[in-house]
Amino acid sequence: MTNGEEPSFRTRVRDWLAANVPETDPQAPVPEMLKTAKRFQAALHDAGFAGITWPAEYGGGGLTAAEQQIFHEEAAAYDLPTGLFMISMGMCGPTLVDLGTHEQKARYLPPLLRGEEVWCQLFSEPGAGSDVASLQTRAERDGEGWVINGQKVWTSGAQHTDYGALLARTDPDQPKHKGLTMFIVDMHAPGVTVRPLRDMTGRAPFNEVYFDGVRLPADAVLGAVGGGWAAAVTMLGHERVSIGGSVRRRYDPLAYRNLVALARELGRLDDPLVRAELAALYAAERALSLFNARLRQEADAGSPPGARGSVAKLSGAELLWRATRVAGLIAGMHAAAWDPASTAGEELAVAINATPSSSIAGGTNQIQRNIIGDRILGLPREPAADRDIPFRHLRVGTQG
Ligand SMILES: Cc1cc2nc3c(=O)[nH]c(=O)nc-3n(C[C@H](O)[C@H](O)[C@H](O)COP(=O)(O)OP(=O)(O)OC[C@H]3O[C@@H](n4cnc5c(N)ncnc54)[C@H](O)[C@@H]3O)c2cc1C
Repeated sequence: MTNGEEPSFRTRVRDWLAANVPETDPQAPVPEMLKTAKRFQAALHDAGFAGITWPAEYGGGGLTAAEQQIFHEEAAAYDLPTGLFMISMGMCGPTLVDLGTHEQKARYLPPLLRGEEVWCQLFSEPGAGSDVASLQTRAERDGEGWVINGQKVWTSGAQHTDYGALLARTDPDQPKHKGLTMFIVDMHAPGVTVRPLRDMTGRAPFNEVYFDGVRLPADAVLGAVGGGWAAAVTMLGHERVSIGGSVRRRYDPLAYRNLVALARELGRLDDPLVRAELAALYAAERALSLFNARLRQEADAGSPPGARGSVAKLSGAELLWRATRVAGLIAGMHAAAWDPASTAGEELAVAINATPSSSIAGGTNQIQRNIIGDRILGLPREPAADRDIPFRHLRVGTQG
Protein backbone atom coordinates (compact mmCIF):
# COMPACT_ATOMS: atom_id res chain seq x y z
CA MET A 1 0.00 0.00 0.00
CA THR A 2 1.06 3.52 -0.69
CA ASN A 3 0.79 6.78 1.30
CA GLY A 4 0.09 4.81 4.49
CA GLU A 5 -3.45 4.02 3.24
CA GLU A 6 -5.34 0.97 4.48
CA PRO A 7 -5.74 -1.66 1.75
CA SER A 8 -9.30 -1.96 0.43
CA PHE A 9 -11.48 -4.73 1.81
CA ARG A 10 -11.30 -6.53 -1.55
CA THR A 11 -7.50 -6.44 -1.53
CA ARG A 12 -7.39 -7.74 2.02
CA VAL A 13 -9.76 -10.62 1.15
CA ARG A 14 -7.88 -11.45 -2.06
CA ASP A 15 -4.47 -11.47 -0.37
CA TRP A 16 -5.72 -13.46 2.59
CA LEU A 17 -7.40 -16.12 0.46
CA ALA A 18 -4.32 -16.46 -1.75
CA ALA A 19 -2.17 -17.05 1.33
CA ASN A 20 -4.52 -19.18 3.44
CA VAL A 21 -6.83 -21.47 1.46
CA PRO A 22 -5.48 -25.00 1.91
CA GLU A 23 -5.32 -27.60 -0.84
CA THR A 24 -8.13 -30.06 -0.13
CA ASP A 25 -8.11 -33.71 -1.06
CA PRO A 26 -11.66 -35.03 -1.66
CA GLN A 27 -10.35 -38.54 -0.96
CA ALA A 28 -8.84 -37.63 2.44
CA PRO A 29 -10.13 -39.61 5.46
CA VAL A 30 -13.07 -37.90 7.23
CA PRO A 31 -11.18 -37.06 10.49
CA GLU A 32 -8.49 -35.31 8.45
CA MET A 33 -11.10 -33.33 6.48
CA LEU A 34 -12.78 -32.27 9.74
CA LYS A 35 -9.47 -31.09 11.16
CA THR A 36 -8.67 -29.08 8.01
CA ALA A 37 -12.16 -27.55 8.01
CA LYS A 38 -11.98 -26.51 11.68
CA ARG A 39 -8.50 -25.07 11.31
CA PHE A 40 -9.59 -23.07 8.28
CA GLN A 41 -12.78 -21.77 9.95
CA ALA A 42 -10.73 -20.56 12.95
CA ALA A 43 -8.32 -18.77 10.61
CA LEU A 44 -11.25 -17.25 8.71
CA HIS A 45 -12.63 -15.93 11.99
CA ASP A 46 -9.28 -14.55 13.16
CA ALA A 47 -9.01 -12.67 9.85
CA GLY A 48 -12.50 -11.16 10.39
CA PHE A 49 -14.12 -13.04 7.49
CA ALA A 50 -16.49 -15.36 9.41
CA GLY A 51 -20.02 -13.96 9.77
CA ILE A 52 -19.01 -10.71 8.07
CA THR A 53 -22.40 -9.05 8.64
CA TRP A 54 -23.11 -10.66 12.02
CA PRO A 55 -22.98 -8.42 15.12
CA ALA A 56 -19.41 -7.68 16.21
CA GLU A 57 -20.40 -8.01 19.88
CA TYR A 58 -20.93 -11.76 19.31
CA GLY A 59 -17.80 -12.35 17.27
CA GLY A 60 -19.11 -11.37 13.83
CA GLY A 61 -17.54 -8.83 11.51
CA GLY A 62 -20.18 -6.11 12.06
CA LEU A 63 -19.76 -5.07 8.42
CA THR A 64 -22.25 -4.56 5.62
CA ALA A 65 -23.79 -6.65 2.86
CA ALA A 66 -21.40 -4.98 0.41
CA GLU A 67 -18.36 -6.49 2.17
CA GLN A 68 -20.06 -9.88 2.38
CA GLN A 69 -20.69 -9.74 -1.36
CA ILE A 70 -17.04 -8.86 -2.04
CA PHE A 71 -15.99 -11.86 0.02
CA HIS A 72 -18.35 -14.15 -1.93
CA GLU A 73 -16.98 -12.85 -5.23
CA GLU A 74 -13.35 -13.35 -4.27
CA ALA A 75 -13.99 -16.74 -2.65
CA ALA A 76 -15.70 -18.05 -5.81
CA ALA A 77 -12.24 -18.67 -7.29
CA TYR A 78 -11.49 -21.21 -4.55
CA ASP A 79 -12.85 -24.40 -3.09
CA LEU A 80 -13.12 -23.36 0.56
CA PRO A 81 -13.30 -26.28 3.03
CA THR A 82 -16.39 -24.83 4.71
CA GLY A 83 -19.03 -27.48 3.91
CA LEU A 84 -18.97 -28.78 7.49
CA PHE A 85 -20.27 -25.39 8.65
CA MET A 86 -23.00 -24.91 6.06
CA ILE A 87 -25.80 -25.59 8.56
CA SER A 88 -24.07 -23.71 11.41
CA MET A 89 -23.31 -20.65 9.31
CA GLY A 90 -26.20 -20.74 6.84
CA MET A 91 -29.10 -21.79 9.06
CA CYS A 92 -28.62 -22.16 12.83
CA GLY A 93 -26.34 -19.13 13.29
CA PRO A 94 -28.59 -16.67 11.43
CA THR A 95 -31.62 -18.01 13.35
CA LEU A 96 -29.74 -17.48 16.65
CA VAL A 97 -28.95 -13.93 15.51
CA ASP A 98 -32.65 -13.36 14.72
CA LEU A 99 -34.27 -15.07 17.71
CA GLY A 100 -31.67 -15.74 20.43
CA THR A 101 -31.55 -13.92 23.76
CA HIS A 102 -28.45 -11.86 24.53
CA GLU A 103 -27.18 -14.73 26.73
CA GLN A 104 -27.74 -17.34 24.00
CA LYS A 105 -25.98 -15.25 21.37
CA ALA A 106 -23.06 -14.52 23.71
CA ARG A 107 -22.74 -18.23 24.59
CA TYR A 108 -23.24 -19.88 21.20
CA LEU A 109 -22.27 -17.51 18.40
CA PRO A 110 -18.53 -17.01 19.09
CA PRO A 111 -17.62 -20.75 19.15
CA LEU A 112 -19.93 -21.35 16.17
CA LEU A 113 -18.14 -18.65 14.19
CA ARG A 114 -14.71 -20.02 15.15
CA GLY A 115 -15.75 -23.52 14.05
CA GLU A 116 -15.20 -24.92 17.54
CA GLU A 117 -18.85 -25.97 17.87
CA VAL A 118 -20.68 -27.39 14.89
CA TRP A 119 -24.50 -27.35 14.57
CA CYS A 120 -27.17 -29.46 12.91
CA GLN A 121 -30.86 -29.01 12.11
CA LEU A 122 -33.25 -31.49 13.76
CA PHE A 123 -36.60 -31.06 11.99
CA SER A 124 -37.51 -34.07 9.80
CA GLU A 125 -38.89 -37.30 11.25
CA PRO A 126 -39.89 -40.64 9.73
CA GLY A 127 -43.53 -39.43 9.65
CA ALA A 128 -42.93 -35.72 9.05
CA GLY A 129 -40.88 -34.31 6.17
CA SER A 130 -42.72 -32.03 3.77
CA ASP A 131 -45.41 -31.66 6.42
CA VAL A 132 -42.88 -31.05 9.19
CA ALA A 133 -45.58 -29.54 11.45
CA SER A 134 -46.85 -33.13 11.92
CA LEU A 135 -43.74 -34.05 13.89
CA GLN A 136 -44.15 -36.24 16.98
CA THR A 137 -40.97 -35.69 19.01
CA ARG A 138 -42.24 -34.54 22.40
CA ALA A 139 -40.84 -31.96 24.79
CA GLU A 140 -42.51 -32.22 28.20
CA ARG A 141 -42.13 -29.88 31.14
CA ASP A 142 -39.89 -31.13 33.92
CA GLY A 143 -39.83 -28.45 36.66
CA GLU A 144 -38.17 -25.46 35.04
CA GLY A 145 -36.74 -27.53 32.21
CA TRP A 146 -37.86 -30.04 29.61
CA VAL A 147 -37.55 -33.75 28.74
CA ILE A 148 -37.27 -34.78 25.07
CA ASN A 149 -38.39 -38.10 23.58
CA GLY A 150 -38.63 -39.00 19.91
CA GLN A 151 -36.74 -39.60 16.68
CA LYS A 152 -35.38 -37.41 13.91
CA VAL A 153 -34.07 -38.56 10.53
CA TRP A 154 -31.98 -37.28 7.58
CA THR A 155 -30.07 -35.03 10.00
CA SER A 156 -27.15 -33.80 7.89
CA GLY A 157 -23.75 -34.03 9.51
CA ALA A 158 -25.16 -34.87 12.99
CA GLN A 159 -22.34 -37.36 13.60
CA HIS A 160 -19.87 -34.44 13.61
CA THR A 161 -21.92 -31.87 15.51
CA ASP A 162 -22.00 -30.43 19.02
CA TYR A 163 -25.39 -28.66 19.06
CA GLY A 164 -28.66 -28.96 17.22
CA ALA A 165 -31.70 -26.77 16.64
CA LEU A 166 -34.53 -29.15 17.52
CA LEU A 167 -38.19 -28.70 16.67
CA ALA A 168 -40.43 -30.55 19.16
CA ARG A 169 -44.07 -30.68 20.18
CA THR A 170 -44.76 -28.96 23.49
CA ASP A 171 -48.56 -28.86 23.33
CA PRO A 172 -50.46 -31.65 21.53
CA ASP A 173 -53.78 -30.00 22.43
CA GLN A 174 -53.02 -27.15 20.04
CA PRO A 175 -53.38 -27.45 16.24
CA LYS A 176 -50.23 -28.85 14.66
CA HIS A 177 -48.51 -25.54 13.82
CA LYS A 178 -49.22 -23.95 17.20
CA GLY A 179 -47.93 -26.47 19.74
CA LEU A 180 -44.29 -26.50 18.61
CA THR A 181 -41.16 -25.07 20.24
CA MET A 182 -37.56 -24.81 19.05
CA PHE A 183 -34.79 -25.92 21.41
CA ILE A 184 -31.01 -25.81 21.50
CA VAL A 185 -29.80 -29.37 22.16
CA ASP A 186 -26.37 -30.52 23.25
CA MET A 187 -25.67 -33.42 20.88
CA HIS A 188 -23.35 -34.99 23.48
CA ALA A 189 -26.05 -35.03 26.21
CA PRO A 190 -27.07 -38.36 27.78
CA GLY A 191 -29.96 -39.93 25.85
CA VAL A 192 -28.91 -38.61 22.39
CA THR A 193 -28.00 -41.41 19.94
CA VAL A 194 -26.76 -40.63 16.43
CA ARG A 195 -26.71 -43.34 13.73
CA PRO A 196 -25.22 -42.50 10.33
CA LEU A 197 -27.22 -43.42 7.18
CA ARG A 198 -25.40 -44.30 3.96
CA ASP A 199 -26.87 -43.06 0.67
CA MET A 200 -26.25 -44.15 -2.94
CA THR A 201 -23.07 -42.10 -3.22
CA GLY A 202 -21.56 -44.60 -0.75
CA ARG A 203 -21.08 -41.83 1.80
CA ALA A 204 -23.03 -41.09 4.98
CA PRO A 205 -24.08 -37.43 4.74
CA PHE A 206 -27.00 -37.76 7.16
CA ASN A 207 -28.21 -39.64 10.25
CA GLU A 208 -31.01 -40.95 12.40
CA VAL A 209 -31.04 -39.21 15.78
CA TYR A 210 -32.85 -40.68 18.81
CA PHE A 211 -33.82 -38.75 21.95
CA ASP A 212 -34.50 -40.91 24.99
CA GLY A 213 -35.39 -38.80 28.03
CA VAL A 214 -32.95 -36.04 27.13
CA ARG A 215 -33.08 -33.26 29.75
CA LEU A 216 -32.87 -29.65 28.68
CA PRO A 217 -32.67 -26.54 30.85
CA ALA A 218 -35.30 -23.76 30.62
CA ASP A 219 -32.91 -21.52 28.68
CA ALA A 220 -32.64 -24.11 25.88
CA VAL A 221 -35.78 -22.63 24.30
CA LEU A 222 -34.94 -20.65 21.14
CA GLY A 223 -37.62 -18.02 20.53
CA ALA A 224 -40.92 -18.42 22.38
CA VAL A 225 -42.50 -21.52 23.92
CA GLY A 226 -45.19 -22.41 21.37
CA GLY A 227 -43.43 -20.22 18.79
CA GLY A 228 -41.61 -23.12 17.14
CA TRP A 229 -43.35 -22.80 13.80
CA ALA A 230 -42.33 -19.15 13.41
CA ALA A 231 -38.77 -20.12 14.41
CA ALA A 232 -38.81 -22.98 11.88
CA VAL A 233 -40.04 -20.68 9.10
CA THR A 234 -37.22 -18.25 9.97
CA MET A 235 -34.66 -21.04 9.72
CA LEU A 236 -36.14 -22.54 6.56
CA GLY A 237 -35.95 -19.11 4.89
CA HIS A 238 -32.23 -18.94 5.70
CA GLU A 239 -31.84 -22.56 4.58
CA ARG A 240 -33.36 -22.01 1.14
CA VAL A 241 -31.10 -19.06 0.41
CA SER A 242 -28.12 -20.92 1.81
CA ILE A 243 -28.75 -24.10 -0.24
CA GLY A 244 -29.92 -22.36 -3.40
CA GLY A 245 -27.17 -19.80 -3.10
CA SER A 246 -24.26 -22.07 -2.37
CA VAL A 247 -21.46 -21.01 -4.65
CA ARG A 248 -20.54 -23.56 -7.34
CA ARG A 249 -17.33 -24.82 -5.89
CA ARG A 250 -14.24 -24.45 -7.97
CA TYR A 251 -13.66 -28.19 -8.11
CA ASP A 252 -17.35 -29.16 -8.29
CA PRO A 253 -17.33 -31.69 -11.18
CA LEU A 254 -20.79 -30.43 -12.24
CA ALA A 255 -19.86 -26.74 -12.42
CA TYR A 256 -19.91 -25.27 -15.95
CA ARG A 257 -16.19 -24.61 -16.18
CA ASN A 258 -15.30 -28.12 -15.07
CA LEU A 259 -17.72 -29.67 -17.55
CA VAL A 260 -16.07 -27.63 -20.31
CA ALA A 261 -12.70 -29.01 -19.17
CA LEU A 262 -14.15 -32.54 -19.16
CA ALA A 263 -15.56 -32.08 -22.69
CA ARG A 264 -12.15 -30.88 -23.85
CA GLU A 265 -10.38 -33.81 -22.20
CA LEU A 266 -12.76 -36.34 -23.81
CA GLY A 267 -12.69 -34.65 -27.23
CA ARG A 268 -16.39 -33.71 -27.07
CA LEU A 269 -16.10 -29.94 -27.33
CA ASP A 270 -16.79 -29.85 -31.09
CA ASP A 271 -20.08 -31.70 -30.80
CA PRO A 272 -22.80 -29.09 -31.55
CA LEU A 273 -25.22 -30.68 -29.09
CA VAL A 274 -22.65 -30.60 -26.29
CA ARG A 275 -21.85 -26.97 -27.12
CA ALA A 276 -25.53 -25.98 -27.07
CA GLU A 277 -26.13 -27.74 -23.75
CA LEU A 278 -23.01 -26.17 -22.23
CA ALA A 279 -24.14 -22.72 -23.38
CA ALA A 280 -27.58 -23.24 -21.84
CA LEU A 281 -25.94 -24.46 -18.63
CA TYR A 282 -23.70 -21.40 -18.53
CA ALA A 283 -26.71 -19.08 -18.92
CA ALA A 284 -28.65 -20.89 -16.17
CA GLU A 285 -25.65 -20.94 -13.81
CA ARG A 286 -24.95 -17.25 -14.37
CA ALA A 287 -28.60 -16.18 -13.98
CA LEU A 288 -28.91 -18.11 -10.72
CA SER A 289 -25.66 -16.75 -9.36
CA LEU A 290 -26.83 -13.16 -10.02
CA PHE A 291 -30.24 -13.87 -8.46
CA ASN A 292 -28.53 -15.38 -5.42
CA ALA A 293 -26.14 -12.46 -5.10
CA ARG A 294 -29.14 -10.16 -5.00
CA LEU A 295 -30.97 -12.25 -2.38
CA ARG A 296 -27.83 -12.42 -0.23
CA GLN A 297 -27.30 -8.67 -0.42
CA GLU A 298 -30.91 -8.03 0.55
CA ALA A 299 -30.76 -10.59 3.37
CA ASP A 300 -27.47 -9.19 4.70
CA ALA A 301 -29.02 -5.73 4.57
CA GLY A 302 -31.82 -6.96 6.86
CA SER A 303 -34.52 -7.72 4.28
CA PRO A 304 -35.24 -11.47 4.47
CA PRO A 305 -35.92 -13.20 1.16
CA GLY A 306 -39.24 -14.75 2.24
CA ALA A 307 -40.75 -16.98 -0.42
CA ARG A 308 -38.12 -15.92 -2.98
CA GLY A 309 -35.75 -18.26 -1.13
CA SER A 310 -37.91 -21.03 -2.62
CA VAL A 311 -37.14 -19.72 -6.12
CA ALA A 312 -33.40 -19.94 -5.33
CA LYS A 313 -33.74 -23.42 -3.82
CA LEU A 314 -35.83 -24.78 -6.71
CA SER A 315 -33.59 -23.20 -9.36
CA GLY A 316 -30.47 -24.57 -7.63
CA ALA A 317 -31.90 -28.11 -7.77
CA GLU A 318 -32.96 -27.73 -11.41
CA LEU A 319 -29.52 -26.40 -12.30
CA LEU A 320 -27.90 -29.47 -10.77
CA TRP A 321 -30.19 -31.81 -12.73
CA ARG A 322 -29.35 -29.90 -15.92
CA ALA A 323 -25.61 -30.13 -15.16
CA THR A 324 -26.00 -33.85 -14.50
CA ARG A 325 -27.66 -34.36 -17.89
CA VAL A 326 -24.87 -32.42 -19.59
CA ALA A 327 -22.25 -34.46 -17.69
CA GLY A 328 -23.89 -37.67 -18.93
CA LEU A 329 -23.99 -36.34 -22.49
CA ILE A 330 -20.29 -35.50 -22.37
CA ALA A 331 -18.96 -38.43 -20.41
CA GLY A 332 -21.20 -41.26 -21.67
CA MET A 333 -19.87 -44.52 -20.28
CA HIS A 334 -17.17 -42.65 -18.32
CA ALA A 335 -19.93 -41.34 -16.03
CA ALA A 336 -21.00 -44.87 -15.13
CA ALA A 337 -17.70 -46.78 -15.12
CA TRP A 338 -14.31 -45.26 -14.50
CA ASP A 339 -10.76 -46.32 -13.86
CA PRO A 340 -10.61 -47.08 -10.11
CA ALA A 341 -7.36 -45.14 -9.98
CA SER A 342 -9.12 -42.00 -11.26
CA THR A 343 -10.12 -39.62 -8.45
CA ALA A 344 -11.79 -37.34 -10.99
CA GLY A 345 -13.93 -40.25 -12.29
CA GLU A 346 -15.11 -41.11 -8.80
CA GLU A 347 -15.82 -37.47 -7.93
CA LEU A 348 -18.00 -37.13 -11.03
CA ALA A 349 -19.90 -40.32 -10.19
CA VAL A 350 -20.44 -39.19 -6.59
CA ALA A 351 -21.68 -35.78 -7.78
CA ILE A 352 -24.09 -37.39 -10.27
CA ASN A 353 -25.42 -39.80 -7.65
CA ALA A 354 -25.92 -36.93 -5.19
CA THR A 355 -28.05 -34.91 -7.63
CA PRO A 356 -31.43 -36.49 -6.77
CA SER A 357 -31.03 -35.40 -3.15
CA SER A 358 -30.93 -31.76 -4.30
CA SER A 359 -34.62 -31.85 -5.15
CA ILE A 360 -35.51 -33.34 -1.74
CA ALA A 361 -33.19 -31.79 0.88
CA GLY A 362 -34.36 -28.48 2.32
CA GLY A 363 -37.92 -29.03 1.04
CA THR A 364 -38.79 -30.91 -2.15
CA ASN A 365 -39.26 -29.27 -5.55
CA GLN A 366 -43.02 -29.84 -5.27
CA ILE A 367 -43.13 -28.06 -1.92
CA GLN A 368 -41.08 -25.12 -3.29
CA ARG A 369 -43.56 -24.88 -6.18
CA ASN A 370 -46.46 -24.89 -3.70
CA ILE A 371 -44.84 -22.03 -1.77
CA ILE A 372 -44.09 -20.03 -4.93
CA GLY A 373 -47.64 -20.59 -6.21
CA ASP A 374 -49.21 -19.59 -2.94
CA ARG A 375 -47.00 -16.75 -1.72
CA ILE A 376 -45.51 -15.23 -4.87
CA LEU A 377 -48.04 -15.96 -7.63
CA GLY A 378 -51.09 -15.55 -5.39
CA LEU A 379 -52.67 -18.86 -6.42
CA PRO A 380 -55.27 -20.39 -4.07
CA ARG A 381 -53.75 -22.04 -1.00
CA GLU A 382 -53.45 -25.79 -0.80
CA PRO A 383 -56.49 -27.12 1.13
CA ALA A 384 -55.53 -28.10 4.70
CA ALA A 385 -58.44 -29.69 6.55
CA ASP A 386 -56.24 -30.46 9.58
CA ARG A 387 -55.08 -26.89 10.27
CA ASP A 388 -57.39 -26.08 13.18
CA ILE A 389 -57.75 -29.52 14.76
CA PRO A 390 -55.82 -30.29 17.99
CA PHE A 391 -52.73 -32.30 17.06
CA ARG A 392 -53.62 -35.24 19.32
CA HIS A 393 -56.76 -35.91 17.21
CA LEU A 394 -54.87 -36.13 13.90
CA ARG A 395 -53.93 -39.38 12.18
CA VAL A 396 -50.27 -38.72 11.41
CA GLY A 397 -47.03 -40.65 11.81
CA THR A 398 -47.54 -43.44 14.34
CA GLN A 399 -50.49 -41.62 15.91
CA GLY A 400 -54.16 -42.31 15.39
C1 LIG B 1 -29.43 -34.95 1.52
C2 LIG B 1 -30.52 -34.60 2.51
C3 LIG B 1 -30.20 -33.89 3.65
C4 LIG B 1 -31.20 -33.58 4.56
N1 LIG B 1 -30.84 -32.91 5.72
C5 LIG B 1 -31.77 -32.65 6.65
C6 LIG B 1 -31.39 -32.03 7.89
O1 LIG B 1 -30.22 -31.71 8.12
N2 LIG B 1 -32.34 -31.82 8.81
C7 LIG B 1 -33.66 -32.16 8.61
O2 LIG B 1 -34.48 -31.91 9.50
N3 LIG B 1 -34.05 -32.77 7.45
C8 LIG B 1 -33.13 -33.01 6.48
N4 LIG B 1 -33.51 -33.63 5.29
C9 LIG B 1 -34.89 -34.07 5.13
C10 LIG B 1 -35.70 -33.27 4.11
O3 LIG B 1 -36.04 -32.01 4.61
C11 LIG B 1 -36.94 -34.11 3.78
O4 LIG B 1 -36.49 -35.31 3.16
C12 LIG B 1 -37.87 -33.38 2.87
O5 LIG B 1 -38.47 -32.30 3.53
C13 LIG B 1 -38.98 -34.31 2.32
O6 LIG B 1 -39.60 -35.01 3.32
P1 LIG B 1 -39.80 -36.60 3.22
O7 LIG B 1 -38.48 -37.19 2.85
O8 LIG B 1 -40.44 -37.05 4.47
O9 LIG B 1 -40.78 -36.80 1.98
P2 LIG B 1 -42.37 -36.68 1.99
O10 LIG B 1 -42.77 -35.44 2.69
O11 LIG B 1 -42.94 -37.97 2.48
O12 LIG B 1 -42.68 -36.50 0.44
C14 LIG B 1 -42.80 -37.60 -0.46
C15 LIG B 1 -43.18 -37.04 -1.84
O13 LIG B 1 -44.48 -36.41 -1.78
C16 LIG B 1 -44.40 -35.08 -2.26
N5 LIG B 1 -45.29 -34.22 -1.45
C17 LIG B 1 -45.45 -34.22 -0.11
N6 LIG B 1 -46.33 -33.28 0.27
C18 LIG B 1 -46.74 -32.66 -0.87
C19 LIG B 1 -47.64 -31.58 -1.13
N7 LIG B 1 -48.29 -30.97 -0.14
N8 LIG B 1 -47.80 -31.18 -2.43
C20 LIG B 1 -47.14 -31.79 -3.45
N9 LIG B 1 -46.29 -32.84 -3.26
C21 LIG B 1 -46.07 -33.25 -1.98
C22 LIG B 1 -42.95 -34.66 -2.03
O14 LIG B 1 -42.59 -33.61 -2.90
C23 LIG B 1 -42.21 -35.96 -2.34
O15 LIG B 1 -42.06 -36.10 -3.73
C24 LIG B 1 -32.55 -33.97 4.34
C25 LIG B 1 -32.87 -34.67 3.18
C26 LIG B 1 -31.88 -34.99 2.26
C27 LIG B 1 -32.24 -35.75 1.02
